[in-house]
Amino acid sequence: MKALLKTEPQQGATLMDVPIPEIGPDDLLVKVQAAAICGTDNHIYDWTPWAQERLTLPMIFGHEYCGEVVQVGANVRGFVEGDMVAAETHIPCLQCHQCRTGRQHTCEQMKIIGVHVDGAFSEYARLPVACAWKLAPGTNPDLGAILEPIGVAANGLFKDRIDGASLAVIGCGPIGIFCAQLALAAGARRVFVTDVSEYRLEMARRIVPEATALNPARDDVRAAVDEATSGRGLDVVIELSGSGPGTAQAFDLLAKGGRVSLVGLPSQPITLEMTSAIIYREAVVYGSTGRLMWDTWYRVEGLLKEGKFDPLPVITHRFPMEEYAQALELTMSGNAGKVILYP
Ligand SMILES: [Zn+2]
Ligand SMILES: [Zn+2]
Repeated sequence: MKALLKTEPQQGATLMDVPIPEIGPDDLLVKVQAAAICGTDNHIYDWTPWAQERLTLPMIFGHEYCGEVVQVGANVRGFVEGDMVAAETHIPCLQCHQCRTGRQHTCEQMKIIGVHVDGAFSEYARLPVACAWKLAPGTNPDLGAILEPIGVAANGLFKDRIDGASLAVIGCGPIGIFCAQLALAAGARRVFVTDVSEYRLEMARRIVPEATALNPARDDVRAAVDEATSGRGLDVVIELSGSGPGTAQAFDLLAKGGRVSLVGLPSQPITLEMTSAIIYREAVVYGSTGRLMWDTWYRVEGLLKEGKFDPLPVITHRFPMEEYAQALELTMSGNAGKVILYP
């Protein structure tokens, strides 16, 4: 089968022929229909220190995908050939304290698809059944491929109630836009999104016109929030930028007693003036990683089923797998929403 591999410890990747993966008794073999490019894939392609620390080469990368089950392991119950599935990226061990107490997504022996085990930029992929999410027959494969990042947004957002809340999303790449859409779908009263990229702000204005899109490099975000909240600040802020200024702004916009979810990954330590940012504010701070297995998936499925939001416009580009270099370079430029590869 055709697969996109990281073979050399340097920038780039190789499209090559490899054997179809053999599956174990607890796995599914999936014929990949669509795979989305994630920031993680950019790290791997670019061979950043993040990737150097985690990958053992060679490795098929890509982890946001969906496809059709073509083979079922001997122990598997509940899935049959022909089922459509989407993949949860975090492979839980199912044995550790975290897994046994309902926190599989923070498993102590966590493995990640496309990072620690072969992923899905390929014609076929081995999917542990513990990571398989069944889709309704006829689901658009593009939608199946982006459920994983939609779940990242949902996990950060739904740490507590969101109905009636005012909130800001700092950073409006694809996950930021999903966040704004989900917040509105779940009954948020007022939504701000911010980014320093004009491309991304334009994307937000087009896809979520109900949200107020502001550029902190140019607009007075604090003044806009003060006006909307009579100076009290926001109930909820979702921080996706992973930057120092973004994190500082997240707290600056927050009402006393409000909550912040930190989702964006800083590439270096961030300094925060904690006295006013957190302590005097009595801020509630959540770290948020991955998706709850499977609470987040059910929640997103419910909102999609009710037609409460349409995430498909966040997909801005589609490429055949052969054009992987163009696709990955486009996502690295930042001037794209979600980008889909088809094997
Ligand atoms: Zn991802
Ligand atoms: Zn575990």
